[in-house]
Amino acid sequence: MPSVSDASSGPEYPCAVTVDDFERNIASVQARIAAAAERSGRDASEIRLLPVSKTVGEDRVRLAVQAGCRELSENNVQEAKRKHGNLADLDIRWSVIGHLQTNKARDVAAFAAEFQALDSLRVAEVLDRRLHAAGRSLDVYVQVNTSAEESKYGLEPAAVPAFVAALPQFTALRVRGFMTLALFTADTPRVRGCFRLLRTVRDRARDTDPDLIGPGELSMGMSGDYEVAIEEGADCVRLGQAIFGARTTANDLYWPTPTKQ
Ligand SMILES: *Cc1c(COP(=O)(O)O)cnc(C)c1O
Repeated sequence: MPSVSDASSGPEYPCAVTVDDFERNIASVQARIAAAAERSGRDASEIRLLPVSKTVGEDRVRLAVQAGCRELSENNVQEAKRKHGNLADLDIRWSVIGHLQTNKARDVAAFAAEFQALDSLRVAEVLDRRLHAAGRSLDVYVQVNTSAEESKYGLEPAAVPAFVAALPQFTALRVRGFMTLALFTADTPRVRGCFRLLRTVRDRARDTDPDLIGPGELSMGMSGDYEVAIEEGADCVRLGQAIFGARTTANDLYWPTPTKQ
């Protein structure tokens, strides 16, 4: 099965090294977002583009900010914390989009505006405690595993109702909706199936108790599959390579290797 980088690195992800390059990459992504929105009868202005700056050096991140990026996201807490500190002179809203261990929750509570990979009540509890101590709050997305065999992270869809029902006790967390990573495959119908499943999970949660999921947004879609995600209802797409350029780092660094059974 091709990995994301096998399937998608290359000339279609030109590396941005000047402000102009970033403006060009962002404009081309926005045009494709607009086209996907139009195809599915949606308003492109309601779709949030969240740039993913993981592995990108701070000098290039500064150029992206000059080109108009006001929000950035990172998969790794340490890397996010370092960039937050070194780029503190810029006005950036930071989102952490990767799996979190409880011992890193303090860091996230200190600088992040948003956390998109909530899948454990223990992490929710530690975040909430740290946030109260710091007098802060945090937007959160509940991560759902929609590709069962490919990823260890995220809740099973069946576990979502009980999980969201337990979140209101954590008053510093503001639930925004759900996040997922689709299967890493060029097989579009299977990718689409993952996005549809997240939408179904959201719709069911909304039918049960809309107050538990806030606006019930769907964060889904990356550089290789965001147009499909938009067609299936994505409210937030998380794009790294399409904005910054092809990433050479192995994806295994960010996602657990699929377990072969
Ligand atoms: C890296 C990453 C992305 C972006 O992937 P690209 O292929 O660079 O667009 C999106 N979501 C998560 C959770 C990631 O770790």
